[in-house]
Amino acid sequence: MTSAIPPGEFEIIARYFSRASRRSDVLLGIGDDAALLQVPSDRRLVAAMDTLVEGVHFPVGTGARSIGHRALAVNLSDLAAMGAEPAWALLSLSLPESNAEWLAEFSKGLHDLAQRYNVALVGGDTVRGPLVITVQVLGFIEAGPALTRGGARPGDLIYVSGIPGEAAAGLAVIQGQTVEGEDSELLRHRFNWPEPRVQLGQTLRTLASAAMDVSDGLLGDLGKLCQASACSAQLELERLPASPSMRALFDVAASERFALLGGDDYELLFTVAAGRVPEFEALVQNTEPGCTRIGRITQRDPGQAVVQCLRDGRAVVVPATGYDHFSKA
Ligand code: ADP
Ligand code: MG
Repeated sequence: MTSAIPPGEFEIIARYFSRASRRSDVLLGIGDDAALLQVPSDRRLVAAMDTLVEGVHFPVGTGARSIGHRALAVNLSDLAAMGAEPAWALLSLSLPESNAEWLAEFSKGLHDLAQRYNVALVGGDTVRGPLVITVQVLGFIEAGPALTRGGARPGDLIYVSGIPGEAAAGLAVIQGQTVEGEDSELLRHRFNWPEPRVQLGQTLRTLASAAMDVSDGLLGDLGKLCQASACSAQLELERLPASPSMRALFDVAASERFALLGGDDYELLFTVAAGRVPEFEALVQNTEPGCTRIGRITQRDPGQAVVQCLRDGRAVVVPATGYDHFSKA
């Protein structure tokens, strides 16, 4: 394919990012000095921002469409963890060069996901520099108690959506640590195309006692939830959802390390008070993604690790970090 003259800054904005929005709450979108947005008077504004740096948050050579998807997905995941309904996004794009093909793919990945969740891109900034993408998302929640990391109480049950570890296993696949095939394709997809759990988050808003999204690894993120809630947790390792694809390519120990320590899952980790479990299970049963109970919240005991791992009822020690860099099977 031949590329025409690389588009300049204003052409980039007009051609790839400025789109008519179907949202009536965008009073003024891309094109002026700032966007003008109508916040519903009875709701609270929820704001989140995440930056992706090439070579840090995604490997050099990742497809532009996947990068566009990911930049928005990781932000929508943060809103999902708050039980919020997404509305608007802003995009700051630092590009080493103006490349029409790359921009077409990147913007497609971003717009496709935005459209699925009715998110309007309302502004941003475009500069030359290393490949760095920052997205800010804005959404709404009902006024009233918010869903945070801090609401877990002893006795609450701990759940996770989807299959934690598959994205990290996918990164290992991308880094060439396994043979290629159907299973490696599925795992690679889990890393490149994270699905923000927006609907689940909204369902959990009044059901869960605490929630967060898993971006840095299940074990560490559960520790953060416990810290915020001033509690401890028991994680029952045999309950971790199994990934047939991960197990086809990696041994049991490596699979468990991916599940506990791997990042980039963008699944929801949340707690439900025991009394609300029947209601919760009735609501999420047979919905996508599936949710798995993986443990329970306990009283903080200063003599114990914040997150205690149990295997068949016995305490076991798992390495605190991926010290062996997720070695292959
Ligand atoms: P200014 O110099 O006044 O900040 P810019 O020329 O940077 O304005 O941007 C012009 C318009 O285009 C603004 O509405 C801005 O929000 C929008 N914009 C710039 N870059 C992007 C981008 N990458 N994605 C979406 N909107 C953008
Ligand atoms: Mg600007």
